Amino acid sequence: MRGDIKRILQEYDTNNLVLATICSHSALQIFQGAKKEGFKTLGICTEGRKKFYESFPLAKPDEFIIVDSYRDIASSEVEGELLEKNAILIPHGSFVEYVGAENIFSLKVPFFGNREALEWEADREKERKWLEKAGIRMPKEMREEEIEGICIVKFYGAKGGKGSFIVKSKEEFNAKITKIGTEEKGRYTIQEYIIGLRYYPHFFYSPILDRLELLGIDRRDENNIDALPRLGLSYDELSEIATYVVTGNIPLILRESLLTKVMEMGEGVVKSSQTLFPPGIIGPFCLEAICTDDLEFIVFEISARIVAGTNLYPRGSPYSCYYFEEEMSMGRRIAREIRLAKEREELEKIIS
Ligand code: AMP
Repeated sequence: MRGDIKRILQEYDTNNLVLATICSHSALQIFQGAKKEGFKTLGICTEGRKKFYESFPLAKPDEFIIVDSYRDIASSEVEGELLEKNAILIPHGSFVEYVGAENIFSLKVPFFGNREALEWEADREKERKWLEKAGIRMPKEMREEEIEGICIVKFYGAKGGKGSFIVKSKEEFNAKITKIGTEEKGRYTIQEYIIGLRYYPHFFYSPILDRLELLGIDRRDENNIDALPRLGLSYDELSEIATYVVTGNIPLILRESLLTKVMEMGEGVVKSSQTLFPPGIIGPFCLEAICTDDLEFIVFEISARIVAGTNLYPRGSPYSCYYFEEEMSMGRRIAREIRLAKEREELEKIIS
């Protein structure tokens, strides 16, 4: 933990901690979970969204800070207010997107988890280093002239799969990339397209209990690729119109015999993170994995914080019930970790 955060935490009234996050992504389960664990909650919200969050009696935050833009979290005014309230920020997918990875490190407000993990997740080269060190297989990356078989072209920082497309040859790649405006083009990666079914396991690593938990699995519903099989298109027709825009999530379980492999991958991720960026990953993370027909998992991405797919399980999942008698959402699990750490006077283990 950085020295200034440590000092700030020492000055906090830990009997009156407030769990705070941006009103978006998975905020409802974060607020509800925090309330169930006995914490006060605070939503950072634009005026337009407040009404929506207020409309859920069991999940609305106890108080709001209204901002014009989420980047204002980094302003000294909002920071000052959060510090005064003994706030701990809970990062989620939109949090990173709105605040900007470059601002995350300068935020003075204590953060649940290890901020460095967000940096390792956001940089594709670091991400690959982390996952490969974990013993995980990733899709092959290729240069344009190496394109062979079906490949997927993805843009750095692409949100929710936007802009990705498939190609089968260098010629097809050249024809498609020229249609993309130079501004959007930015940097991209060309990967082998893995044929198989997608499973996104939701993990929670607890430094306090020193254990890795599997709290659920989902698959993202993607527009329009998931709708195209109904049309029975040829490769050429399909590749022209396919897009990968996430619009929802579907609950899933895996064959029980496959769970061993999933847990091994999760353990590898925790261990390699501990050597690459100590103390390593803390709390929720998710592996975006494809299971092939020879039952091998290939991971094309890691999310190093709560994922929106956990919104499927506000009352717990077909896996969380093997760890907890009570309904344990990922949001509540985060709050539980903070509560346990506070009771054991070990908050510095889970805050950065
Ligand atoms: P991403 O931008 O990495 O989140 O990818 C967007 C979507 O493209 C994913 O949700 C998958 O459906 C698909 N996808 C990404 N990478 C691969 C891959 N290497 N093989 C097959 N499908 C992929």
